[in-house]
Amino acid sequence: MGAGELGFSTRAIHGGKIPDANKSVVAPMYQTATFRYDTVEEGARLGAETGPGYFYTRWGNPTTDLFEQKMALLEGGEAALATSSGMAAIATAVMSLLRAGDHVVAPKAVYQATFGLFDSVLPGYGVEATFLDDPDVGAYERALRPNTRLLYIETPNNPLLGVIDIAGVVALARARGARTIADNTFATPYNQTPLALGVDLVCHSATKYLGGHHDVTAGVIVGSRDLIRGCVKTMRIFGGVLDPFAAFLLVRGLMTLGLRVERHNASALALARHLADHPKVARVHYPGLPGHPRHAVAARQMTRGFGGMLSLEVRGDVAAGARCVEALRVAKLAVSLGGVSTLVTHPASTTSVNMPREVRLAAGIADGLIRVSVGVEDLADLIADVDQALDRV
Ligand SMILES: *Cc1c(COP(=O)(O)O)cnc(C)c1O
Repeated sequence: MGAGELGFSTRAIHGGKIPDANKSVVAPMYQTATFRYDTVEEGARLGAETGPGYFYTRWGNPTTDLFEQKMALLEGGEAALATSSGMAAIATAVMSLLRAGDHVVAPKAVYQATFGLFDSVLPGYGVEATFLDDPDVGAYERALRPNTRLLYIETPNNPLLGVIDIAGVVALARARGARTIADNTFATPYNQTPLALGVDLVCHSATKYLGGHHDVTAGVIVGSRDLIRGCVKTMRIFGGVLDPFAAFLLVRGLMTLGLRVERHNASALALARHLADHPKVARVHYPGLPGHPRHAVAARQMTRGFGGMLSLEVRGDVAAGARCVEALRVAKLAVSLGGVSTLVTHPASTTSVNMPREVRLAAGIADGLIRVSVGVEDLADLIADVDQALDRV
């Protein structure tokens, strides 16, 4: 049986190999920055990568390799490259594909730092971007220019759990000879595998579900051997290398990814349904609800579930939203997402507090909008917690 035929969790637990003479069940951590060679000839060979072995951790490390092998198996790619953060993965992937004179199309609601890369960094290097308010396939098509080289996808995304039709965007890109990158952080490879839909490179903030325990900052890129080779060259220059201890924690996290995401999916769907009927809640945004504007697309491309992220709009003003999040006892107020603990943010009073109200509302951030990363606590406790907090609004 090839690894590709094994189930998701079996691949996550047993996939990938590193040399270990002692046959330990858990792969050892190679917490080392560099590796010995016995002859200058061997050193030259390792540096030029013309044979097996390790040279320097920015070039490669066995623990990091194991994480990469598992990610390639889970996303269905030929190769993967681990990085020091999700932004290191995205910046590395994007910079490896683009040259001065190129044009990018991306949704306006991409992760904030990704928006910054396209909006304020790349223009200085001669790369222009067009941002889509409503990124349906038609909008991507209308934004195409003769020099469009990259169609960037992030689905689902902030803050309203927007969904993009991956196969539709890939078809457009292929017809034009452009590349596609998909940020698969919210969905995880358990729910969605963009490479199977024809995407060229998948990026993750491994800080989120892949690590899953709020204790590691990391990223990863998955794709063809050829494109990953290009990413490796870029990463070695920009330097966003993953630390071996972080790789060790990620290998451990991946082993329970299937179990955790199963629970995130079920709890988020149950909480979304509960909130949709709550008198204090004006709206719930969750791709798994039939009322979501792209529920059908989500159901097609998210094959096992709709993920653990949702947002809700509490009725009332900014102060009402703030009172609600401050009244929570189980859920914690914190940025980031995708871990065992339920985390909430109220953008209008925190991350978007300095935005003019009209601009904020135009970006879909209502006064009472609360983003919830549903954790793996007992569902009854999460529902009781949200109910008692909504009672205080
Ligand atoms: C967090 C996040 C990132 C950035 O990842 P870091 O690990 O914080 O650098 C990128 N994309 C999405 C969708 C994210 O949630």
